[in-house]
Amino acid sequence: MNSWILKDNNYKESYQLKETLFSIANGYLGVRGSFEEGLNKDIPTVRGTYINGFYEKEEIIYGEKLYGFPDNSESILNVIDTQGIKIKINEEEFSLDTGEVLSFERVLNFKKGIATRTVHWRSPKGNEINIKFKRLISFVQKELFLIQIEIEALNFNGVIETVSTIDGDISNIVVENDPRVGSANAKALDVIRVKQENNCSFVEAKTKNSNLTVVSGISHKYPKDFKETILTQHNSSKHIIKGNLIQGVKNAFTKYAVYTDTVRYKDEMYKNVEILNSVLAYDFNHFTSLQENYLNDFWKFSNIEINGDAEMQQAIRFNMFHLLQSAGKDKWSNISAKGLSGEGYEGHYFWDTEIYIFPFFLFTNPDLAKNLLNYRFTILDFARKRAKQMGHTIGALYPWRTIAGEECSPFFPAGTAQYHINVDIAYSIIQYFEVTEDVNFMVEKGLEMLVEIARLMHHIGHFRNDNKFCIDAVTGPDEYTCIVNNNYYTNVLTKNLFDKIGVIWNKIKESHKGKLEEISAKIKFNEEELINFEKAGKEMYLPFDKERKLHPQDDSFFNKKVWDFENTPKEKYPLLLNYHPLTLYRHQVCKQADTILAHFLLEEETELEFIENDFNYYEKITTHDSSLSTCIFSIMANRIGEYEKAYDYFMNTSRLDIDNLHHNTENGIHTACMGGSWMSIVFGFAGMRVINGELSFRPNLPKKWKSLNFKINFKNRILNCYLETNTIEIKLLDGQPLKVNNNLIAVND
Ligand code: BGC
Repeated sequence: MNSWILKDNNYKESYQLKETLFSIANGYLGVRGSFEEGLNKDIPTVRGTYINGFYEKEEIIYGEKLYGFPDNSESILNVIDTQGIKIKINEEEFSLDTGEVLSFERVLNFKKGIATRTVHWRSPKGNEINIKFKRLISFVQKELFLIQIEIEALNFNGVIETVSTIDGDISNIVVENDPRVGSANAKALDVIRVKQENNCSFVEAKTKNSNLTVVSGISHKYPKDFKETILTQHNSSKHIIKGNLIQGVKNAFTKYAVYTDTVRYKDEMYKNVEILNSVLAYDFNHFTSLQENYLNDFWKFSNIEINGDAEMQQAIRFNMFHLLQSAGKDKWSNISAKGLSGEGYEGHYFWDTEIYIFPFFLFTNPDLAKNLLNYRFTILDFARKRAKQMGHTIGALYPWRTIAGEECSPFFPAGTAQYHINVDIAYSIIQYFEVTEDVNFMVEKGLEMLVEIARLMHHIGHFRNDNKFCIDAVTGPDEYTCIVNNNYYTNVLTKNLFDKIGVIWNKIKESHKGKLEEISAKIKFNEEELINFEKAGKEMYLPFDKERKLHPQDDSFFNKKVWDFENTPKEKYPLLLNYHPLTLYRHQVCKQADTILAHFLLEEETELEFIENDFNYYEKITTHDSSLSTCIFSIMANRIGEYEKAYDYFMNTSRLDIDNLHHNTENGIHTACMGGSWMSIVFGFAGMRVINGELSFRPNLPKKWKSLNFKINFKNRILNCYLETNTIEIKLLDGQPLKVNNNLIAVND
């Protein structure tokens, strides 16, 4: 098995799923892996093109709307389609539904950043052709999507006509009975202009409510003696390119499609024309080599080598590649739950980014990680406004799900009530600072966010009669248990913020006093607030059952009845699709890791013995109906020495999309789970932790693995980590000497 590619030879099955798996993207633009020529109408398909951060806004219609419910939803939009290319040879239209498919192969190449499809086809009249489609979305020129088609006639001479389209008449999908997809209005884009200039066509479309505009421009390159005719229609345009096919001669056509939008540019049409003209100066190969160079740099620091387990090797590379494809690289965008590969969860950004994906970028590509935090800074004013709406006189409350910054969760018990999103973001900022020591980021953005988050968390809490600081009426990560008092996870992450914010503030103040005064003046921050935070951190109430030596997930959790797992048939999972939320809330049943996740993130807050007890307890009542769960159980199984379990949970994590284990990858990849697979390796099998600013490892490889190798970027050093069974060899490749596992290592050691 070549672990640098994903390959498929069966075009007849699971078309929609493969549209997701073979999607290509660069963090700005994403295109699902649909067939250029289209297919038989009966086959379910979502032919999608998405721009990160480009959305429609829609009023949420409630049966009963109470105060503070979000007004609007935001949804990622399926934008102008440029995938379309039909091919006719001697008047016979190429299609996998007619004639005979003599061979078919589709490949997504993680090293080259290209998706290819090779078809050997015999037409109904017996004319045979070889067609090779290559697609690329450039990491270097973010607006550019390229398709190259190479066609060879194998047993005839004749005429070929390619009809390449750009189409603005596009809708989103609507799935009414699955909350994990979208239910907003399907048709959100109106074409406002179609224009032709030289050999280029442009379609400009505008959203109905969010007041955003997108333009796509296309142009083509083809053999010299071919002729092009352009037909412009109401919402679309067609480029008909015609010429002679000579047996044995390969003819190449390249389609250039450029996307620009008003989130990023004031004059999106002007910009589109400019970019399209500039890229037309180069051929397809130019962009493939730029793509390869970009990916060489990416893999240089991100590659993980697993020796002895080809399936896992392929899966982890597939996952890392998709994460790179999904990650927004400007301040307007982040990583949606499905990346740019589908419309699931309406393209919203969740806590998934901070807790599940951020660590991968932080330790391999800190600049990309920083950008994810920049986005949170971009939407800080929305979070301040939301805090006020929610009755808080101070601070910022980040939205549970959003694109442009407004809270979009209509179901507040498993939405807005998840105040932990705030401390998840704070956790990432603190982690970022610990790992990169980037003081500039902290004084420009990080500290301001930390203060606003801390203020909000302090405002929702209160000191109980016994002087313990408590946080009531929130929902923790587990969405099967909602609106509870003292969710362990939320409390312990808040404690972490309260404990550390003063230390970080004072440390930075030593060198940047003036800057901190500026921040204080800007947000009317009085350093005495730090004392309040510290006190609340010290007195934070963390629920613990002394007799059973277990942490209850919240105050009431252990009083509830345990779910009747024995009598729950398999087809009733995921439970959320088969039981009313209240039925779930009345039971001890977890959708995903909650307390166990808290133990992973803040292991130092409790003792290993209790972590082990909790693991054994929660394992029995967790359904893993969320794809965010098994990775955490894998990491913590490793931590308590349950190595076989750790591997089983890891298998369910790392191949979740490739093997469609949750049966919904057709709606998009699961980016959090992909990030979780990286964490399962690095924090799980290699046992890496950063505690008090120091790096340590506790390796234990799965039996099957002969060795494991990966790199880590830590405090401006590059470390190579090579592991066998339970040994680790760490080499400092670049940077100043550093202590790891209490040993000092230096370059050339
Ligand atoms: C999980 C959430 C997650 C969301 C998006 C839900 O199923 O319960 O924790 O943020 O999916 O991935």
